[in-house]
Amino acid sequence: MAPPRYPLVIGDDRVETPEWLPIDDRATGEVIAEVAAGRPEDVDAAVARARAALPAWDNLGPLGRAAVMRNFAAVLDAHQPEMAEIMHREEGKPLGEAQAEVARACEVMHHFAGEAERLFTMQLPGANLSTGSIIRPAPIGVVAAITPWNFPVALVLWKLGPAMAAGCTMIVKPAIEAPLAARMVCDLATEAGVPDGVLSCITGDGPILGEALCTHPGVDKVAFTGSRRVAEQIAAWASPRLKALSLELGGHGALLVLDDADIDTAVEVALVQGFANCGQACYSVNRVLVPRAMEDAFLGKLRPGIAALNLGPMATDRGRERHQMLMDDARAKGATVEGGELLDGNYVAPALVTNAGPGVLLVDEEPFTPVVAVLPYDDLEDAIAEVNRPDYGLVSYLCGGESRRTLETAERIECGTVAVNGWRVVVPYAPYAGWKGSGLGAELGQPGLDAFIRWQHLRVLA
Ligand code: NAD
Repeated sequence: MAPPRYPLVIGDDRVETPEWLPIDDRATGEVIAEVAAGRPEDVDAAVARARAALPAWDNLGPLGRAAVMRNFAAVLDAHQPEMAEIMHREEGKPLGEAQAEVARACEVMHHFAGEAERLFTMQLPGANLSTGSIIRPAPIGVVAAITPWNFPVALVLWKLGPAMAAGCTMIVKPAIEAPLAARMVCDLATEAGVPDGVLSCITGDGPILGEALCTHPGVDKVAFTGSRRVAEQIAAWASPRLKALSLELGGHGALLVLDDADIDTAVEVALVQGFANCGQACYSVNRVLVPRAMEDAFLGKLRPGIAALNLGPMATDRGRERHQMLMDDARAKGATVEGGELLDGNYVAPALVTNAGPGVLLVDEEPFTPVVAVLPYDDLEDAIAEVNRPDYGLVSYLCGGESRRTLETAERIECGTVAVNGWRVVVPYAPYAGWKGSGLGAELGQPGLDAFIRWQHLRVLA
């Protein structure tokens, strides 16, 4: 039986294209769907529809938009199982992780519906009630959201929730490696009564559609999540055209273990965040810095934890090749690699790397594969310097005792997010921001909403 075909979502229309691209189940290799291969003219159509929808969507006002968003959130909730199932198949993420991603992502739409209800215009009174300064949050306009495959639903909703609250319209361009769950989010907007044109989804080739969106005169903002390499290309298209830009990029997370830390907590953080989504997470723990006196105890508990992991397949063939390349590089430079083999199909074994340091590729660059390097330290100042050394600043972790030193050390870590004594890092009400080479701007929280607003001052003098 031919696999189902998923056309482009252009507002309320479903648009077929001359070419279709196969999507496979990462665990079995079976082709499970074909998605439309969007063309630049499809981008033109989606942008025109988004621009046309903008005035009415803005004029609906924050409370009107909040009502639409609450309904949309309920429809998304009702379809959580299908979104998780399709994500599990197209990306390879274990079903439990896919369910958790979808559940947390839907909370973001609920959260920003509430934020829309609190989107106040401010008035500074003049001599009488009808004069003064009215300071109004206006939407930035039409947003192109370009998203990666590793958290395909979350990274759409982190952009869509605040954009809808602010009164923006959006065209989503998901990664071709895993477009089905992201496309389903956009498809469900129609069922939820989101007005025509507020949301579209164009699937297809990243570079072709990326250029069409980032250079389009009708696009006001590009919200990108992905790799630094592609971010530089996106910025080269969007910045000379003075489009608003947000870039959420990769990380090189450290777990800094202090000498008064609880080892079991530290091991749990390393296991959960080192190997979640098969290491293909921007918030991964890549390096663990542990006091030399605690190294044996830490490794003694980490090794059986790694042996008990049950990882899904890698999401891409190039990720699997990269895992092998990183292991070869580490060995060639004298590091000790435990595990890390390529397994049958799209699977790889998780790896533990010791006797490694700067100069070993996986210690310097985001590995994006399931590997954790454990580096012992003698002096805390040196350890903090190592945490901050790579040109990344997304998420790091710190385990320490209940002392002022723990928090003061956390403050010195140059990352947008630092998790202390635990691993759950993302909440809808707090900003998630990449510092240094990890990005530009923030998603979620108040800054994540402000990113879709341009302020207007109505100075009413008489
Ligand atoms: P990627 O940069 O290859 O792709 C991201 C998006 O850009 C996709 O939609 C892709 O189709 C598109 N694209 C690819 N090449 C393009 C080109 N030449 N021109 C225009 N668009 C192009 O990233 P990826 O491999 O999908 O995702 C992994 C990266 O994303 C990692 O570095 C990871 O750390 C990062 N990431 C960051 C966050 C965060 O919030 N900071 C979250 C998840 C992932």
